[in-house]
Amino acid sequence: MAQISKNARTASATQRFYCSCGGEVKMKTVFAGGKVKNLAECEKCKRQERRPRDFK
Ligand SMILES: [Zn+2]
Repeated sequence: MAQISKNARTASATQRFYCSCGGEVKMKTVFAGGKVKNLAECEKCKRQERRPRDFK
């Protein structure tokens, strides 16, 4: 049985991704066509991808 820690958190919000240029990828929330979209943008080269995984 796994122990449940009080400090256990979901990793999704704190996950970090890095662009191939070395810049950190930040998540952006964009409203487009009445829908909320999450975009990943590199701080350094401003490259945008739909998912942070696409930077690798
Ligand atoms: Zn970059």
